[in-house]
Amino acid sequence: MAMPDVNECEIQIGGAWRPIGLAEAHARYPSAIKRCPICHGRVSINVNGTAQGGLFLQHRKAHDGCPLMPARFVGEISPHPQAVE
Ligand SMILES: [Zn+2]
Repeated sequence: MAMPDVNECEIQIGGAWRPIGLAEAHARYPSAIKRCPICHGRVSINVNGTAQGGLFLQHRKAHDGCPLMPARFVGEISPHPQAVE
């Protein structure tokens, strides 16, 4: 089964959320607060341990209504209980 391919998160710049590529967010805004573009839960950007060195989103708090957490996703999207607005 294919994993969702997520290459973006959202970061808050000057009080507004905007989408940003993971690579750019990781390189330029390492300390900015980041959130999931789908459930708006807070996320971190982690470096994949594989040879490709890919970046991936990790939710700070697990949530079962986000397709970006396929291990827990229940099939229906719902907002994160601790969404960052
Ligand atoms: Zn999410």
